Amino acid sequence: MADQQQQRPRWHARPQGEIERELGVDPVAGLSEAEAARRLSVHGRNELPEAPPPSPWHILATQFTSLIVWVLIGAALVSGLLGEWIDAGAILAIVVLNGLLGFLQEYRAEQSLAALRTLAVTYARVVRDGTRLNLSSTELVPGDIIDVEAGDHVPADARLLQAAAFRTQEAALTGESTPVEKLSAALPDSDLPLADQRNMLFMGTTVTGGKGRAVVVATGSVTELGRIATLMTAVPIEPTPLQRRLEQFGHVLLALSLGIVLVVFGLGVWRGEPLFDMFLTAVSLAVAAIPEGLPAIVTTTLALGVMRMVSRHALIRRLPAVETLGAATVICTDKTGTLTKNEMTVTKLAIDDLVIEVTGEGYAPVGTIVGGDPREGALRELLWTALLCNGASLKQAEGKWAVVGDPTEGALLVAGRKGGWVQEELARAQPLVGELPFDSDRKMMTMVRRLGERAVAYVKGAPDVLLGSCDEYVTKTGERRPLTESLRHSILSVNQQFARQALRVVALASRVLDPQPTSFDPDLVERRLCFLGLAAMKDPLRPEAKSAVDLCRSAGIATVMITGDHKETALAIAREAGFASGPTQALSGLELNRLSDADLASRVRTVSVYARVSAEHKLRIVRAWRAQGAVVAMTGDGVNDAPAVREADIGIAMGVTGTDVTKDASDMVVTDDNFASIAAAVEEGRSIYANIRKSVHYLLSCNLSEVLVMLGSTVLGWPLPLLPIHILWINLVTDGFPALALAVDPKDPDVMKRPPRDPQAPLLDRGRFLTVCVQGLVMAAATLAVFGIALSIVKDEVSFARTMTFTTLVLVQFLHAFTCRHDRYSLFQVGVASNRMLVGAVLVSALLQGAILLSPWGQEIFKVVPLRADEWSVIVGFGLLPFLVMELWKAWSRARSGRPETVSPHYS
Ligand code: ATP
Repeated sequence: MADQQQQRPRWHARPQGEIERELGVDPVAGLSEAEAARRLSVHGRNELPEAPPPSPWHILATQFTSLIVWVLIGAALVSGLLGEWIDAGAILAIVVLNGLLGFLQEYRAEQSLAALRTLAVTYARVVRDGTRLNLSSTELVPGDIIDVEAGDHVPADARLLQAAAFRTQEAALTGESTPVEKLSAALPDSDLPLADQRNMLFMGTTVTGGKGRAVVVATGSVTELGRIATLMTAVPIEPTPLQRRLEQFGHVLLALSLGIVLVVFGLGVWRGEPLFDMFLTAVSLAVAAIPEGLPAIVTTTLALGVMRMVSRHALIRRLPAVETLGAATVICTDKTGTLTKNEMTVTKLAIDDLVIEVTGEGYAPVGTIVGGDPREGALRELLWTALLCNGASLKQAEGKWAVVGDPTEGALLVAGRKGGWVQEELARAQPLVGELPFDSDRKMMTMVRRLGERAVAYVKGAPDVLLGSCDEYVTKTGERRPLTESLRHSILSVNQQFARQALRVVALASRVLDPQPTSFDPDLVERRLCFLGLAAMKDPLRPEAKSAVDLCRSAGIATVMITGDHKETALAIAREAGFASGPTQALSGLELNRLSDADLASRVRTVSVYARVSAEHKLRIVRAWRAQGAVVAMTGDGVNDAPAVREADIGIAMGVTGTDVTKDASDMVVTDDNFASIAAAVEEGRSIYANIRKSVHYLLSCNLSEVLVMLGSTVLGWPLPLLPIHILWINLVTDGFPALALAVDPKDPDVMKRPPRDPQAPLLDRGRFLTVCVQGLVMAAATLAVFGIALSIVKDEVSFARTMTFTTLVLVQFLHAFTCRHDRYSLFQVGVASNRMLVGAVLVSALLQGAILLSPWGQEIFKVVPLRADEWSVIVGFGLLPFLVMELWKAWSRARSGRPETVSPHYS
């Protein structure tokens, strides 16, 4: 270790120029793409070794570890010892088939989950060939110039070149939990421990404040983190509440089935059935009663659902969120970028007593400033400040203009260009000496630039906040005057006017700092400013936002906007998006401060817009809703949002604008930052839950019917209606495919017309449980009736009666799968072909069943006999009966509920 320590290049102790030379990089233009590609092939990807996923062999092996499988293998052994080779072979074959089916399901689930992990890529802002790019962190190479800011994970080890109010949290590496202040100058002592290397950034640590530019010095396993950690911590896959409840439910079923098995076994032996036959029957019955396929079906449904959500721009980070999503009662959402497009265009400027129009659309600097001279007075100063207090840049690619950086700042750059000023030229004449980055709690931002011997602070921020720090203003002709109270009032009323038109307003100000300060503290720099004017920009509503808000309303979900923007802007957007049908109630951060937690909780249901709030308010809003028993989804992007996102039942991070810290705290990431994707995720969550319920319902009612057939016959004093091999076959093979197909049933068109589910309610409530029991009973009755009839036709040929019973039960269960698709609508409303998987599954199972009945080997192994057409008609007649009963039942309950049958649902 000591040796290694010696060999490490002491990046922290060397001057910047020397580092840049050694790493062969220009600190302004970065590496060229070609050089970066070359280095990537030498150094490899910037990744830490990951724990390998479970191998297919491991998954296969775990299929044969359950108690049931061992009991079956035991039963096969006993059969073999007694010379019943066919029985032994058939049981083993079914065990293997069942194992393969389980393997396929679990392997698929594992693959989807592995795919999900790779989707959660983090991005780094890298300068290459003079342009700032967003790249996957894995593509970083030594020598890359990166920009990092509050909320980012440091993507590699790097030496800081510039730092503004920069702090990192290095607990992951050094164990020190208080943030460390960072700087860019070389450190004199070359033998410093990591914790004291204050100009270095280390992979795996987090930026908690400020902004910085750094040069990457080590990537992947050569980083400090790579040296100490061999495994990266992946997001753990935890069981969902539903999975946990199902496991408990499984225990209850196990106990119950053992009781029934004992009764059937006891009665059989008492009546003189051979002991061995009864043993096999008991084992098969136990298999029939325990729905061992359930956990795999739930996992597969969840995993497939999660994959479907990815295609709808929702990335689930914690599996339980899928269930919680379906129970959400309120969605608290950001405005900018989520409900709106986050494509800003400055349309109005206000200086002195003038309102000036800016023409043009989007980020193309094509348009003019109408009603003022951009080369003079306040308007020139305003535009200069807009360009000099600005961290964004404009880029033109394939004829399209785009902004790299904050869209608010991008819009200001475009406005400046329309006035004839170019940011790069102004910035070259006034180099940056310090920066106070934008912070949504302070709602201001400052860049300090050198102008000859002096320095100038260029400031912009929310008008109501920034005005409080101004004591002068500039007239349209460029004179500086004191800012009187009445002027402040009239500026605020112009601001209000803009805001009512759904415009986002930024105020601009500046101050000459003489002498040039050595430290940049907001309390020292952002005061005694000279007000220059306002810039108002439009940010159009996303076209899909209104329908998504409407969809949530029809689903009984309240939508609440929480924004840092002005109350009037927020209200105007809320109205456009169709929030709350009545007058929309809004509260500002200041008003919130005056409310106690109890008052807020009592009012929270009536407020749908919160404006000028900070991250701390978000936390209070989440808590207030939760105190009212709501299931809250909350979005967030900034580093300060993380606590509220963590506190919410479903924390949602923004994929594009969200910081790594917020993503870490979240349950779900919305990859396109779009509110409509949140509504879509809720819809998916609801339908995944409904599908799991369908599969469980189906499996339980089928299993119950099998147990009741066996129990009923034993009680009636009849011979065994099904042989163990029949029960095993039905249970492990023919049931399995339809249950899987039900798990991917298309979305019920009514899914977003119902109120949210009570998260505490069991998967099968009392009504549904009763339905399962009644359906099991009806199916068993029809099957037993066929057994009774067959027995009475041919008294001493039990194998014929068993063939009839076996076939009837299989048919009954196939049809029952279609019944389970909807508890209200008839199959004909739902559409037979709308779940092609189910039709296919039933066909495959029917083919297998046909092969057994018709082939000589099938007849031999399953001890069945060929059937005549009239016997088939009895099977079909009785087989259809339960299905018809249940269809009639649905029709009756539809008529009784009195809900109008407006349109038949459309399954897509
Ligand atoms: P949300 O995303 O939560 O809907 P928001 O993005 O509108 O809210 P903030 O980013 O906190 O909220 O912005 C609040 C106010 O701060 C804006 O109304 C604007 O006046 C000002 N502001 C926004 N961005 C900047 C910036 N880059 N520089 C200076 N001021 C800004």
